[in-house]
Amino acid sequence: MKSRRFGNRWIVRIDRGEEIVSSLRHFCRENQIRLGAVSGIGATNQAVIGSFKTATQEYFTRELTGDMEITNLTGNISSMKGEVYTHLHITLSDAEYKAWGGHLSSAVVSGTLEAVVHEMDGSVEREFDDKVGLNLYKL
Ligand code: FE
Repeated sequence: MKSRRFGNRWIVRIDRGEEIVSSLRHFCRENQIRLGAVSGIGATNQAVIGSFKTATQEYFTRELTGDMEITNLTGNISSMKGEVYTHLHITLSDAEYKAWGGHLSSAVVSGTLEAVVHEMDGSVEREFDDKVGLNLYKL
């Protein structure tokens, strides 16, 4: 992973073989980024995406393999219990140009991942909401 800062924005490159979610968390910790937004495009050949079933508050995951374009990676950076917390969603297109999408659990870069991280001042914590079953912004 490489990055370069431009004011309050960062250009980030995540390389082949690197896992996107853990790389972005590492990047945030290294650079003391506690609040922000992430967007990106690239390619992966191994991804785990999730879908949340609100009625039972369960996450279902699915592993996807094979060459896929990351047509959109989008999400945010906040914190929970003092730790960096990333919430990322992804849309992938397969060899048939068909799209898959969901909550991003993990994805290994196959070609490259090009991201822009928009850093913001301050911090927003999260806390678990047992009515919803998710870690919500504490505002
Ligand atoms: Fe999500």
